[in-house]
Amino acid sequence: MSEIKRRGLMLVLSSPSGAGKTTLARGLLSADSGIFMSISATTRSPRPNEVDGRDYYFVSPEKFETMAAGGELFEHAQIFDNRYGTPRQPVVDALKAGRDVLFDIDWQGTQQLKEQTREDLVSIFILPPGHDELERRLKARAQDSDAVVARRMAKAASEISHWPEYDYVIVNRDIDRALGQIKSILEAERARRTRLVGVGDFVADLTR
Ligand code: 5GP
Repeated sequence: MSEIKRRGLMLVLSSPSGAGKTTLARGLLSADSGIFMSISATTRSPRPNEVDGRDYYFVSPEKFETMAAGGELFEHAQIFDNRYGTPRQPVVDALKAGRDVLFDIDWQGTQQLKEQTREDLVSIFILPPGHDELERRLKARAQDSDAVVARRMAKAASEISHWPEYDYVIVNRDIDRALGQIKSILEAERARRTRLVGVGDFVADLTR
């Protein structure tokens, strides 16, 4: 017997936009083959380059409502004009099989997952490195008016206010360092005793 059987974990990354969360999620997925991305359903339209079934499941509001009412979603939230939700079954199957799942969801979804799963959930909040840098990133598109940038800044501030609800907080000053921190958290959480459902068998075999 070489591996200890363990339950998978749910790793949540949340952040205001402009904190580099998408880059970090991609970096983690390509560096670690033991974790895969939960693909959300959303009612928003695809952006250029987004692919249905890869970035999101793009669904109609009617279909979303059917999924939510039928209990197919682990959590769901309204974010501005659109709805977003996590399909339940792929997550349940992965956890049972001892695989880990990565989530890019907002604070509302994180709260709902926490209520339902407790010990399976590990949550990380990513912060941008400072006010000026956040403003610079939110301004990235030069044609935006001051009012649009101010609205984005206010939205970021309201998202950032949820940092105390997370297990870990990472400031993304340097992408490689932030990614290293996420990997370390994942490794440590994988060794948590409560997830090692097979440790009793392992030890029994060690001492037979
Ligand atoms: P975007 O429309 O830019 O892809 O995502 C907007 C926000 O929705 C992001 O903060 C993202 O984390 C969040 N989000 C994406 N999928 C889900 C989901 O399934 N559930 C929840 N609660 N939030 C989500």
